[in-house]
Amino acid sequence: MDAPLRGQWFDGRSSAAREVGVQLQPGARGPSLVLRAGNGETLELRNDQVGWPERWSAGRMPRKLTVDLGPHGSLQVDDPALWQQSLAAAGHTASLAQHMQTRWSMFAAVLLVAAGLVLAFYRWGTPWAATQLTRQVPIGWETGLTDRVLRDLDQSWLKPSKVPAARQDALRARFDALARTLPPELRRYRGYEPRLVLHFRRGMGANAFALPGGTIVMTDGMVELADKHQLGDEALAGVLAHEIGHVMHRHTTRLLVEQGVLNVGLGLALGDVSWLLSTGSSLLTGLSYRRNHETEADCFAVALMTRTGGRTEPMADLLLKVESDAGDKASQTGKASQAPRQEAGWFELLSSHPATPQRAQALKSGGAAACR
Ligand SMILES: [Zn+2]
Repeated sequence: MDAPLRGQWFDGRSSAAREVGVQLQPGARGPSLVLRAGNGETLELRNDQVGWPERWSAGRMPRKLTVDLGPHGSLQVDDPALWQQSLAAAGHTASLAQHMQTRWSMFAAVLLVAAGLVLAFYRWGTPWAATQLTRQVPIGWETGLTDRVLRDLDQSWLKPSKVPAARQDALRARFDALARTLPPELRRYRGYEPRLVLHFRRGMGANAFALPGGTIVMTDGMVELADKHQLGDEALAGVLAHEIGHVMHRHTTRLLVEQGVLNVGLGLALGDVSWLLSTGSSLLTGLSYRRNHETEADCFAVALMTRTGGRTEPMADLLLKVESDAGDKASQTGKASQAPRQEAGWFELLSSHPATPQRAQALKSGGAAACR
């Protein structure tokens, strides 16, 4: 078949260009280029002997095309559209990188898909994998970690409680009653039966927190705040039910596992991105309770308190007092009161209970909307 494609061949020896027929032939290693001059002379060049020009998009068609032929000079093609068409017919597939150079829409699409995959992994893949892995974490690992953490806290922020023994006993009896009542439908992890233990400690202001494996700590500040505002044991029982919720949902273990999954997953997805791991993933997950964890623990408290004939309204009032109390202290002492939070990673984990007004409102309405 005669090539309808024509061009001028500057062979580098003679000054005049020669009219040639241009043919692009398919080959195992990509198309080869054949030039036929009028005098019967033929030049055949393998794919790797031709400096193939970059491809272009339909909107940016060049008027003329110059093809580098190395030691054989160069070829000027008058009909770039026909050249591109013949090249495609001969099986010249542009690499993805070439597509990305010439077609911005393709480049944007690739970027979008990549970003989408990373986001999807973060949004659904990480929590899913974390749930599967959390099931595999033995309770002994949790209690071992908790023993160490509580020891560290006792040597740093926490001091022995000064709440009278009789008051402690009364609250502990209420706590034990809650722990005994745990119905099967409130147990998220089947077969997970931690021994729930309540400790009292001084320090850290008004606070209560759950450590993995069943240890719950309530500070004297929390008991005193409830007494000061005459909210009574009902409010404290609600807080304890909330903390039992964190334990039974294994929230701390989940956060630690999610952090690990995210680090490993991002590493696999993006190659070596240690700069991202050290900053990005800890920003993404943080070590503070997530808002949905708080909602889960609140709904757990509502369900458990309702079952034991209790109410969560006093707890809601106590939460609001904790927040306004912390606000007062911060404005009195300035920035100094923030210091411990930044020094100890565990503090973030233990004391971050965001969006208090919304939570209090939900608790007062029996958790209605959020807990369905
Ligand atoms: Zn909480």
